[in-house]
Amino acid sequence: MVKNVIIIGSGPAGYTAALYCARADLQPLLFEGNQPGGQLTITTDVENYPGFPDGIMGPELMDKFRSQSKRFGTEILSQHVDEVDFSKSPFKVVSGGTEYLAKSIIISTGASAKLLGLDVEKKLMGYGVSACATCDAFFYKDKKVFVVGGGDSAMEEATFLTKFASSVTIIHRRDVFRASKIMQDKVFNNEKIDVMWNSSVVDMIGEPDKKGLESIVVENTVNNERTTIDCDGLFLGIGHTPNSSIFESKLDLDKTGYIITKPESTETSIPGVFAAGDIMDSIYRQAITAAGSGCMAALDCEKYLENLH
Ligand code: NAP
Repeated sequence: MVKNVIIIGSGPAGYTAALYCARADLQPLLFEGNQPGGQLTITTDVENYPGFPDGIMGPELMDKFRSQSKRFGTEILSQHVDEVDFSKSPFKVVSGGTEYLAKSIIISTGASAKLLGLDVEKKLMGYGVSACATCDAFFYKDKKVFVVGGGDSAMEEATFLTKFASSVTIIHRRDVFRASKIMQDKVFNNEKIDVMWNSSVVDMIGEPDKKGLESIVVENTVNNERTTIDCDGLFLGIGHTPNSSIFESKLDLDKTGYIITKPESTETSIPGVFAAGDIMDSIYRQAITAAGSGCMAALDCEKYLENLH
């Protein structure tokens, strides 16, 4: 059976697109992927989502989005999409070996935090290593923590961490930050924050089933000298990667892998395939902007399907 629309991905963009498509009687099918609810499910308090004056927990907010989309008839599959074929209509989506066909597609697969690529890093994730200060800063009250990166994310994470940690050191691989001036000023004016310039984290020492992360090995990028430093927590603030690997060579992507959409539209390089949320937005990356673009994708999709008849 050919569906009207398949939605791939389940953050604020995906669920909002599903809500609007379902209310337009398009009976959408949504694939939730490996992290149902997306990045908000690994955050705690969300205080900037309008309509919740007292804040709301990220996972609870995503549960509400999900229930609202289901209430109007969205079919949700808790599966990951492995492959797509947009070369002809109906479009094909493959998940767990089964093929699904649809007249249109909305992609909302989001983005994931970048890691340093050290073997030990994944093992210690959640045991002293984190890619989300908003989620985990609370656990580092009066502790000595480090932040890797030199962009706005790293500045934001470091500044936020000073609310809890006793000291925060930013480790940056060059001698200048790329962050906006206003964010840099906040860092330089905060007496709890130090910077280690020209430095890279090359190893992490600790065991998840013991004390977790205990120290890091930092290499000076100028003279290659290595130093082992005691460390209670290490936060990675080195950017995000769009979850677009299955769309490579199927759709136009920019040089960093974000899906390119037409100006003032969510339409991709293939008519009938739309993109919404962090997968096409490297600038705003907010739950509210993702939800807004999910709504736009549903409206664009509805119009596309109307014109097919
Ligand atoms: P970004 O601007 O790409 O910065 C990433 C930083 O991490 C860079 O300083 C980079 O170093 C460093 N880095 C990357 N890979 C590394 C590695 N393997 N090892 C060590 N360091 C590494 O990413 P971002 O800070 O997440 O910002 C992304 C976008 O979101 C930007 O447009 C930013 O303005 C925006 N943003 C805005 C806000 C806000 O306004 N509140 C907050 C967060 C993000 P190099 O500098 O040497 O390349």
